[in-house]
Amino acid sequence: MSHAEADDLYGDGGETGHTFLFTLNDDYIIDANRKGNSARWINHSCAPNCRAVVEESADGNPRHDKVMIEAIRAIKPGEELTYDYGITLEVPHTARLKKLWKCLCGAPDCTGTLLKPKR
Ligand SMILES: [Zn+2]
Repeated sequence: MSHAEADDLYGDGGETGHTFLFTLNDDYIIDANRKGNSARWINHSCAPNCRAVVEESADGNPRHDKVMIEAIRAIKPGEELTYDYGITLEVPHTARLKKLWKCLCGAPDCTGTLLKPKR
């Protein structure tokens, strides 16, 4: 869906503390609530073992771009796959929103929130 469609459906105020949306590129957002595969269950971690990489489509159509989950280190059998969601909201990241988007990854260097500092 387009970014405007996602904003209409879910708002952009970050009030859920939970999302199945993935920003694909400047034009599109993947809504895993509607057509997601099992990758939508991969949790965030502040010390992830994977990263999400957007592969641009060879045909140049941004609608055909794909998200790939790549390992960034050796992963033991049975170990949970995680990546850094890198969430940045349109609204200011207040203490209340950081708490709403609380991170429970358990990493020693956990930031305590899924929200990334704005630049
Ligand atoms: Zn964390």
